[in-house]
Amino acid sequence: MTTDVWGQVQQELKDGMSGSSFNSWIAPLELKVLDAQVATFEVPTGYFGKYVNQNFGDQILYHFNRVGENVQRLKFAVPANKSAKAKVEAPANAPARPTKSSDHLGADIDPRYTFDSFVVGKPNELANAAARRVAEGGVVSFNPLFLYGGVGLGKTHLMHAIANELRASRPELNVLYLTAEQFMYRFITALRDRKMMDFKSQLRSVDVLMVDDVQFMAGKDSTQEEFFHTFNALIESRKQIILSADRAPGEIKELEDRIRSRMQCGLVVDLHPTDYELRLGVLQSKVELQREAYPTQVIAPGVLEFLAHRITQNVRVLEGALVRLFAFASLVDREITLELAQDCLSDVLKANDRKVTVEEIQRKVSDHYNIRLSDLIGPKRLRVYARPRQVAMYLCKTMTSRSLPDIGRRFGKRDHTTVMHGVKRIEELSVTDSQIADDLELLRRSLEA
Ligand code: ADP
Ligand code: MG
Repeated sequence: MTTDVWGQVQQELKDGMSGSSFNSWIAPLELKVLDAQVATFEVPTGYFGKYVNQNFGDQILYHFNRVGENVQRLKFAVPANKSAKAKVEAPANAPARPTKSSDHLGADIDPRYTFDSFVVGKPNELANAAARRVAEGGVVSFNPLFLYGGVGLGKTHLMHAIANELRASRPELNVLYLTAEQFMYRFITALRDRKMMDFKSQLRSVDVLMVDDVQFMAGKDSTQEEFFHTFNALIESRKQIILSADRAPGEIKELEDRIRSRMQCGLVVDLHPTDYELRLGVLQSKVELQREAYPTQVIAPGVLEFLAHRITQNVRVLEGALVRLFAFASLVDREITLELAQDCLSDVLKANDRKVTVEEIQRKVSDHYNIRLSDLIGPKRLRVYARPRQVAMYLCKTMTSRSLPDIGRRFGKRDHTTVMHGVKRIEELSVTDSQIADDLELLRRSLEA
């Protein structure tokens, strides 16, 4: 019976989080007892339990209640024979976090997420500057501050940094940080327990409100409604609001227009995808952290540069790769070399294999043939343009996963049959015309570099 319920809850949780979070933290959880509104899980280490509680506790509770199980509290137990190991498995640089009391509205702030530990580069300098300004706690100059950007680019880090900074410099301020999911869960709980008045007054008494991942509110109408009122009340009393999302306010679907326009009326800044310099900077700073855990580990020159070059998704993936690399190297007791990195991270590296874009191909081809990009794409039919155009089409077809119509669109809205014809023509010529064959070889190599 209990396992069924937990299976259902797991299924629902799975739909709402990344596959890796689910596999790392939720899948391994074993529900042992469900009794007196308390769900007790068996976890491998104390740290594991704390982490799950802190990061997924609310969601787990919420989904238990959704599937009709009145669960009010989660407990995490380390089996007796494993508890001795727990200390070893907790990363040495993970600070002990305070356990959360259940009547507290917000989420805990990670003390490691500070401005000091945030590496600034071109892609995030504006977001960093705006966050720092807000963290000064002075007169509110833009309200709300809306941070958006892809996953793993540092939105949550910056919000925690603001909270850490304010708690140190302005301890009298009531700073509340919570995720949109937590906001919703608290709201629903308050409704159910008839504690809406408490909930409202708690929210309205804060000086700084941060809501992380507001895209989660999309389609949740009553949560949005409540949020809208809180939002207005706080703005009116000139309290600072900081929001984050994985996309711009205008791009969040199923968000009420009035909320969307409210979100846009302060300062909206985005965190851009990382560039090489930022990635290298992040790696260098995270290596310092790893050194605390593995003080004797040797890392060969060039490895960080290699990783910064090859792992381009986001900072979280980069960080994960580094942690794994250090753990792996210490297990096999070897120096971290390029070879070891390639071995240990082959899956991550594969996922990051450089994808060539249509634009890159067009640029390279027009450079190669010394013609203008506009002529390559444009309507002129002269051979000096038409041949390079066909070469570019051929490369797009063979080096990207774009469809013929899609490629046609990117070449001045040409028809897919034109692209097909061009691709065929180059295929033929590559056998009979050694100049074309050489050109293709050269271009392909330079695009793959
Ligand atoms: P997001 O909320 O945008 O998905 P996070 O703030 O959770 O991303 O960042 C993911 C991980 O990457 C965190 O561990 C964070 O500390 C780290 N990180 C992201 N950007 C930076 C940065 N510029 N400097 C240092 N660490 C960063
Ligand atoms: Mg986040």
